[in-house]
Amino acid sequence: MSFDSLGLAAPLLKAIADAGYTSPTPIQAQAIPAVLKGGDLMAGAQTGTGKTAGFTLPMLHRLQAGQRTLDKRGRPAIRALVLTPTRELAAQVEESVQTYGKYLPQLKSMVMFGGVGMQPQINKLRDGVDILVATPGRLLDHAGLGNLDLSKIEILVLDEADRMLDMGFIHDIKKVLALLPAQKQTLLFSATFSDDIKNLADRLLNQPALIEVARRNQTNDQIAQKVHPVGRERKKELLVHLIKSGDWHQVLVFTRMKHGANRLTDYLNDQGISAMAIHGNKSQGARTKALADFKSGDLTCLVATDIAARGIDIDQLPHVVNFELPNVPEDYVHRIGRTGRAGAQGEAVSLVCVDENGFLRDIEKLIKREIPKAIVPGFAPDPNEKAEPIVLGRTVLNPNGSRGRNPNPPQHAGRGGRPGGGGGGNRGGSRDGGRSNNGGGGGKPQAHAGHGGAKPAGSHTGHGGARTAPRPQGQPSRDGGAPRHTNGPRLTQPKR
Ligand code: AMP
Repeated sequence: MSFDSLGLAAPLLKAIADAGYTSPTPIQAQAIPAVLKGGDLMAGAQTGTGKTAGFTLPMLHRLQAGQRTLDKRGRPAIRALVLTPTRELAAQVEESVQTYGKYLPQLKSMVMFGGVGMQPQINKLRDGVDILVATPGRLLDHAGLGNLDLSKIEILVLDEADRMLDMGFIHDIKKVLALLPAQKQTLLFSATFSDDIKNLADRLLNQPALIEVARRNQTNDQIAQKVHPVGRERKKELLVHLIKSGDWHQVLVFTRMKHGANRLTDYLNDQGISAMAIHGNKSQGARTKALADFKSGDLTCLVATDIAARGIDIDQLPHVVNFELPNVPEDYVHRIGRTGRAGAQGEAVSLVCVDENGFLRDIEKLIKREIPKAIVPGFAPDPNEKAEPIVLGRTVLNPNGSRGRNPNPPQHAGRGGRPGGGGGGNRGGSRDGGRSNNGGGGGKPQAHAGHGGAKPAGSHTGHGGARTAPRPQGQPSRDGGAPRHTNGPRLTQPKR
């Protein structure tokens, strides 16, 4: 199939050709015609499937075919709103809007997120914006100050809706919805379909077209997955060995915790491997720079936590390393989705110590395949090493799956959640799901065992278990089902 048959306007086809795309990805082939028809859409697609172009291209088409209107204050109205969970994703979506809309100079776009000054955003709004890509918190801040009018929105996109709910944005989303007109086209993209997502879709979408590509929790066949069993204390050395012996130049490394990411970054730099950490405690400037250096090839290693890595879009990323396995199995799928994107080959390597065997079993159950295991010569784990409890903030997850209290609880909680789940400060940007404690890294008595997120007692071997630590309100588990038909009543006045 070619893009030409999808009904997109010539300036869009020209931009697609410039981007070097020859044929639409499966999500694009289905989503573009559905969105062009004007109805609502619920799409199950992970990053890496081409979903951004899947909604951006038809959105641009519809906007260019329609009329610019004026808002209540007589300014050119904002006509499309894309909500994303993180700053990085917002920035990347808006970059896509610019890329695909480059021959439609009449359509202006803007990205808006927290952690940066408001005044430049206010100035940009004044200049007139057709397409606004925003994180919910900063959007509400501007709305509260009367800086923008969303009453003329024609198209609303909720991108990575599951992650927005995971991050406790449901109340913010409801507040945003209350600012939008009842009559609009709504597109909901989500990698997973928890009951919360289904509820949101039932209330928000009107007889949506349902599209699901690459069934959720399926990993991409282009990605070679490997587990290297290794002693808990030797992970760092093994990582350095893999990078140096494999002559790796662009490696995305995942840790569970911010502190673990920082410590590992220091170690890698000490070993002569250029590395930077990207997580919610970093300033927006530091994160933008780390990502830019990594993309340009100046930086060998980007060490990231799960939430911060959402939306990182780097073509053909050759290596992803799970320095620590995620305790939420679905995060494994998200993590390794960073490589092998859009048809490119990639390699995802997990360094697994004895403490993490339960996590590995959960992941293999979820992806319905066993990941090949290979011991790297010289790094065989000590067969006598015993599994130790994993510290989850104030809770300890024992090797048998039971939970207890951390005898040395962290002195302060990180930005893991928002008590009450609603509009506290600290809005609008990336957040890390875990708590600040001694995480990752391996080595110090407390250090190896600091792992983000908790699962409810007894769920250690089950997949899709709820995370209690990083989810502010004990978000429910994600289920394995496909989206069900959602033709419930349109939500016009969401409850606040
Ligand atoms: P996304 O899932 O939207 O994050 O996109 C993943 C990557 O696929 C992005 O880097 C896009 O540039 C790339 N991409 C999107 N559509 C196509 C296409 N039709 N052909 C080749 N690459 C694509």
